[in-house]
Amino acid sequence: MNENTSRIPAFICWGCGKLNDAATDSDSTGAKPFGGAWCICKYCNHVAIFNDDLSVRQLTSLEWDEVFKDDNLLAKMRVNARLMRFLK
Ligand SMILES: [Zn+2]
Repeated sequence: MNENTSRIPAFICWGCGKLNDAATDSDSTGAKPFGGAWCICKYCNHVAIFNDDLSVRQLTSLEWDEVFKDDNLLAKMRVNARLMRFLK
């Protein structure tokens, strides 16, 4: 865990079933998680969203529409997918 990593309430990813209990900014800007921010699983790229208390919930269908319109988020997911293939 580095200075860009924040502890969050543990949750089981809906995409891969792995435990997540920390969040790290994906672009090394030092950004911290906040309510309404995307939460991308580091293991499988499943997208969820932070609540104000930093617990995580699944997206609504309207929020999924926003994911597919967010080129920045899609680019981060592509980078994560490449890294995961590289690290295997
Ligand atoms: Zn996952």
